[in-house]
Amino acid sequence: MTASTPADAPIPLVDLRAAHAEVAEEVQEGIDRVLAAGAYIKGPDVAAFEREYAEFAGTRHCVGTANGTDAVELALRALELPPGGEVVLPANTFVATAEAVVRAGLQPVLVDADPDHLLIDPARVAEVLAADGGAVAAAGGDGRPGRITALLPVHLNGQLAPMDPLLDLAAQYGLPVVEDAAQSQGATQHGRPSGSWGRIAATSFYPGKNLGAYGDAGAVTTSHDALADAVRLIGDHGSGRKYVHDRFGFNSRMDTVQAVVLRAKLRRLPAWNAARRAAAARYDAMLSDIDGITLPRTLPGNEHVWHLYAVRIGAGRSRDAVLTALQEAGIGAGIHYPVPVHLQPAFRSLGRGEGSFPVAEQAARELLTLPLFPQITESQQARVAEALAKAVARATA
Ligand SMILES: *Cc1c(COP(=O)(O)O)cnc(C)c1O
Repeated sequence: MTASTPADAPIPLVDLRAAHAEVAEEVQEGIDRVLAAGAYIKGPDVAAFEREYAEFAGTRHCVGTANGTDAVELALRALELPPGGEVVLPANTFVATAEAVVRAGLQPVLVDADPDHLLIDPARVAEVLAADGGAVAAAGGDGRPGRITALLPVHLNGQLAPMDPLLDLAAQYGLPVVEDAAQSQGATQHGRPSGSWGRIAATSFYPGKNLGAYGDAGAVTTSHDALADAVRLIGDHGSGRKYVHDRFGFNSRMDTVQAVVLRAKLRRLPAWNAARRAAAARYDAMLSDIDGITLPRTLPGNEHVWHLYAVRIGAGRSRDAVLTALQEAGIGAGIHYPVPVHLQPAFRSLGRGEGSFPVAEQAARELLTLPLFPQITESQQARVAEALAKAVARATA
């Protein structure tokens, strides 16, 4: 990070302290102000952050929540889908996407990813919709309501899912789209921001996300006034007026201190995302000659924000041996995610065993995430590239 960092210092997967150093003074002043005011939940800082983030995401509204999983649940609950209705989401996502569906009283329907960019595959979505048989009459269906009630694409690793074909399917079947935008703050597709494509969207400000709080936080974005009102109500005990509970809800509000942190970091986010893009381009150049690995692919039309830079270690080589070798060399590589949702013990009841989603399963065996954060230096990346080349060559022998 600095001139005083030894040349062989470990390289973390993400360096949250480096980001903090850039906002430290502003955050300290803000926290001192919150402590002096003695109001710790919601308040003017949360309202200001909500305005600023809505503008950033290109939506009319943003509602702060306690975390990203709640944000997905609140977005689904606000839509008032029929209880037990099915929601289509990718098998290769962080487990929270599926958890939120279940918590909202709905049923996850997983689909496989596109083998090229590993985002949800619209062709697989079309298949489950056709099999559901419940296309609205306008789409030539039999008029019987389908069990599928919403589409929940995930903007994985920092780039948007293919939204045009998904919105076409949603329109054809009369379904709302809910975006899981937890990994894509600031990403765009055809210039349109993540979080502004669906009827409603959820994001997470978990510390390691591109826009990270100093604890848990999340948000819902939407341009529909009634949905924003519903999210606000449900996430505050169903109460818009003190001690009057208009509908069933729970507690998922944003802490004031987190809003202070997020406001300071949001101002830097465009520059930080640009720095991530520059770092990803450097990796692309540095790693292009290594035999046996596949570099991450960007969907045309996407401006990627590189939440994660994950390469694939090809068949015949042990990804886990490469991971161990990198870790021994002091390089904080990781795996996102080692087990797809349908093979998690918690989701056994979905009844989808090994072989159900071959693309997601192969990705889980092959993916290896390399260190990437806005402040990573070219020389740190060169060390990662060198160690990776060595480790892959050894894993091949
Ligand atoms: C992080 C994440 C979430 C959940 O966010 P939390 O704030 O950790 O609850 C949901 N979906 C995806 C894809 C995520 O990466």
